[in-house]
Amino acid sequence: MTPVSRQRRLLPLVAIAAAALITGFFAIPAYADDPMKPEPCPTENIADDQLADIADCDPTGLTIRTRSGATMGVPEKGVSVVASWIRDDGIVDHPVTVFQSEEGGVAISEGSSVYAGSTQEARSSLNARHQRNAEESQPSAPLAVSKCSSAAPYVRFSKWGNGGEYKWYYNSAGQPDTFARTRISSAGATIAGGLSSTCGNLSNGSTTPYGGTTTGAINVNSNGCPDNYSGFNAQGWGALTGPQEKWLALNCTWYTVYIRHSDTKFDLTGRSWWTGATTSGCSGKWDLQGVATHEFGHALGLDHVHESEPQVMNPGLAGTCNWSWRQLGRGDQNGLRAQYGS
Ligand SMILES: [Zn+2]
Repeated sequence: MTPVSRQRRLLPLVAIAAAALITGFFAIPAYADDPMKPEPCPTENIADDQLADIADCDPTGLTIRTRSGATMGVPEKGVSVVASWIRDDGIVDHPVTVFQSEEGGVAISEGSSVYAGSTQEARSSLNARHQRNAEESQPSAPLAVSKCSSAAPYVRFSKWGNGGEYKWYYNSAGQPDTFARTRISSAGATIAGGLSSTCGNLSNGSTTPYGGTTTGAINVNSNGCPDNYSGFNAQGWGALTGPQEKWLALNCTWYTVYIRHSDTKFDLTGRSWWTGATTSGCSGKWDLQGVATHEFGHALGLDHVHESEPQVMNPGLAGTCNWSWRQLGRGDQNGLRAQYGS
């Protein structure tokens, strides 16, 4: 048999095999690679300690009542969503993360501790990420260092991959006055520019361009984060009814390896916001620019630092007419420099 005749005999077999592969490929049902979880979970709203009950269904979109009081949606596979808020009473709450692993398990953490999950695999995966982030962040410095000390700590959870750009849009619905957007833009300029009259001016490689106005929804619920997001990164206003209506602002950020989306909502439950450029007249009012600077920190992937640290990423510095959040501390700047490498 010559090589040519063998080729001719094999050709039809090759064609049949190829056809079978192609038709088989298109005939594979959507869940064929995951036969154990063919149906969405039947429960719409569960408590975090019920997670073990949903190990056999698709949890995407499920709403979970977390220990913190925040109500969180379960994002799609491989995605984490983190809710970070500031309270008006100075009590420190740590961000809550809900993560769905590639295997379909769900895990929840508050701060760096994973406290609930539907599978051990999801818990271990989220815990490993927290450990790695802790190691990559500045090691635990002495507590209560000065605002400008080079030893000031920072913590981070993810970052933007597109050259460190967080482009955001503004929804003016409900705004206290027409100066609000200017104050939020100033906050963005501060955190990207590292502007601080006390700690020096250190660039950090992030950018926070303002994209314009939007009438689209802000992907932040009144009491937590939805499972998904749409459209532009948006900042704006709405009633935050989280635990005891203590929340001044809530940021929701979705990420995989890199941040995909981040929105912030400022509270409108009868609060007085200060939108002036100077302190004159701010008494008894919440300083929007300072609060917004803190929320930009979350949008760029920074987590909270210990409550004794005088950094912008300390959530326990709440107080009306609080000017200290308008200027970054060294730890805030170091965190952003570690993220964006400038
Ligand atoms: Zn915060």
